[in-house]
Amino acid sequence: MKKHNFNPGPSILPASVLQEAAQAIIDYQGKGLSILEISHRGFEFTAIIEEAIALTKELLGLGDDHHVLFTTGGASTQFYMMAMNLLNKGDIASYTDTGTWANKAIKEAKPYGDIKVVASSKDANYNFIPKNWTPAPGSRFMHLTSNNTIFGTQIQEWPDLDIPIVSDMSSDIFSKPIAVEKFGLIYAGAQKNIGPSGVTMVIIRKDMVRTDLDHYLPPMVDYKTYIAENSLYNTPPVFPIYVSMLTLRWIKAKGGLKGMQSINEKKAALLYDEIDSNPLFKGTVAREDRSLMNVCFVCENPDHEAEFEVDAKKAGCVNFKGHRSVGGFRASIYNAMPIESVQVLVDTMKEFSKRKG
Ligand SMILES: *Cc1c(COP(=O)(O)O)cnc(C)c1O
Repeated sequence: MKKHNFNPGPSILPASVLQEAAQAIIDYQGKGLSILEISHRGFEFTAIIEEAIALTKELLGLGDDHHVLFTTGGASTQFYMMAMNLLNKGDIASYTDTGTWANKAIKEAKPYGDIKVVASSKDANYNFIPKNWTPAPGSRFMHLTSNNTIFGTQIQEWPDLDIPIVSDMSSDIFSKPIAVEKFGLIYAGAQKNIGPSGVTMVIIRKDMVRTDLDHYLPPMVDYKTYIAENSLYNTPPVFPIYVSMLTLRWIKAKGGLKGMQSINEKKAALLYDEIDSNPLFKGTVAREDRSLMNVCFVCENPDHEAEFEVDAKKAGCVNFKGHRSVGGFRASIYNAMPIESVQVLVDTMKEFSKRKG
C-alpha cells in the first residue's frame, strides 16, 4: 500500500505523474527508447523543456520580460550563484534571517557584496517572520525566503518595496498565486513542489541580468550562459526536467495556482484546526505566519510523542518527524499531498487523544 508521505523533501509527487514518468523510463512515447536514453539536443527533449518553460510562465503569469532557467546544484548553489550574478564588489543587498536556509543564503552571499541583515527571528528559534523592517539604503535587492521549510513559517503578504525582491521559493513555489511584478529573481530546488531532486528553477527578470559585472564568472555559474543556451550549455538533468514538466501539467489541470491555493488552504486548515482543538497537541509558530506547506507541531506532553508516532506509522503516515532544531512533528503537505492523507493524520490525532484523554 502506498504510504502517506509527509516528507519535507524530496517529497511526494502526484500519482499520475509517477505513473507517466515510470512508463517513460521503460519506453518514451512508444519510441523504443527510455527517457533516460534520449539526447538532450534532440527534438523530443527540446519539446519537453520548451513546454516546461511555457507552463511556468503561464502558471505564474509571466510575460516576455522573464527568463526561466534550469540549473543544477540545488537551491544551495543559488545562494552564491545568485549573489555572484547580481552583485559587484561593494554593492549592497538586504536579507532577512528567518531560518536555516535564509541563514545559509546570507552566509554564502557575503563574499560577493555588502550583505545587510535587516531583521532576524533567530532569538525566537525562528518561530515567526519579522515584519517591521526596511531594506538598507542603496540595496540592489531584498532577499526573502518565502517558506521556511524547517520551522514552518511562510510569508503570507509580500511587502511593497521600491527594490526587486529575490526569493528562495524552494518549498512553496506554485502553491498559490504571487504578484510577480514584485520579484526580480526567484529560485527553487525542484524536490519539494516541482519534481525530483537534481534540477533547480531560476526565474530572472531580464533587467536583473547584469552586463557590468566586475568579476569573471565561469560559464556554469553565469546566468547569461543559461539564457544564451536555453539551459542546454552542458547536459541538463533531462529526467528531473521531464518529471517537473509533468507536474506543471498536473498543476494546470488542477486549476493552476488558484486551484492549488484553494486545496492547500483546505488541507492546512484541516490539520491546524485539529492541532488547535486537540488538547494533546500544540503548534510551534506564530499563527499569522503559519506555513501552508510545512505544519510544525509538538505534543503538550513530550512523553506522548514517541507513542503518537507509532500510531501514525500504523496508519501509514511516514516521514513527519520534526527537524532536529525544532523537535516534535512536521507534516509537509505540499501541492501533491492529497487531502485524504491529511485526514488520516488528523483521524489518528483524534483517536490518540481519545485513548489518552
Ligand atoms: C530544501 C531547501 C533548500 C535546499 O535546497 P537544495 O536544493 O537541497 O540545495 C533551500 N531553501 C529552502 C527554502 C529549502 O526548503
